[in-house]
Amino acid sequence: MNELNPSPKFIARGRFAPSPTGEMHLGNARTALLAWLQIRELGGQFVLRLEDLDFGRVRPGSADLILQDLAWLGLDWDEGWDIAGKFGPYRQTERLAHYKAAAAKLETYPCTCTRTEVLLSASARHTEHEVRYPGTCSSGVTHPERPSALRLRVPDKTITFWDLVKGKVSQNVHDSLGDLVIQRNDGVWAYQLVCAVDDLEMQISHVLRGDDLLSSTARQILLIDLLGGIAPIYAHVPLMTDYRGERLAKRGGAPSIKALRDGGANPNEIVRDLALSLGWNVTQSSQPKDLIGLFSRWLEGQQNHLG
Ligand code: GLU
Repeated sequence: MNELNPSPKFIARGRFAPSPTGEMHLGNARTALLAWLQIRELGGQFVLRLEDLDFGRVRPGSADLILQDLAWLGLDWDEGWDIAGKFGPYRQTERLAHYKAAAAKLETYPCTCTRTEVLLSASARHTEHEVRYPGTCSSGVTHPERPSALRLRVPDKTITFWDLVKGKVSQNVHDSLGDLVIQRNDGVWAYQLVCAVDDLEMQISHVLRGDDLLSSTARQILLIDLLGGIAPIYAHVPLMTDYRGERLAKRGGAPSIKALRDGGANPNEIVRDLALSLGWNVTQSSQPKDLIGLFSRWLEGQQNHLG
């Protein structure tokens, strides 16, 4: 052991964190495959975490189906909501005490603004997709008759990180979004908080996920930082698109893994097709383990484009 490398053996830990809102499609499977390959190439541990807090969107049976789909594709995991582990529980609905304890460590205030009020507020600055919260409730004057959300007092600082696929990313969350909701006014903990808490507490070292979540990352790093942790290494991978270049979505009728499975598809051919969709030179039907090594080569190629 030396000062620069205090850990005699570093164990990489990655995760796949689906929301059980319906059947997985090929795009979800491709992201899971990439996250699995990244960790298996590093000889690390792969964790499955169920992001099942949003009760309005959760579909019964979907969590079991995800496990069946992943296993059918030939992916395995070391910890998950079906296997007990040191960092469990792995279902977010069973981790509420963790979120409460984390929120208690943060500087927060109750907020009773409605969405419309925030949108209409003259001082709210609009960015492309999001609205900056103008801090209406930050002085402590709220509408006591309304249910309240919990907002984080966001410090004015720029978060910069290096994404393995996208390169350097910087965001000043204070300037672009303002104070963040970490608990909705219906009591549900916000995705940004729970993701940060879980990645931190589950000792995740590598987060690989779809690039639709790139814009969430600075917020999560900020939260991890405020909780006294060190953020993982991120890789935001392209979402799979159809022949029109549109992103595969459950709503858009992308075939689900279950439908392919029920229709008698060969999982090794699906794995090969997923690899082909990434431009990998794979001609034969393959198990995920046959692709080990191709991931880091692909990542190098992605990084070469960063300039
Ligand atoms: N639960 C999120 C989703 O299914 C993924 C969250 C994450 O990977 O950070 O889109």
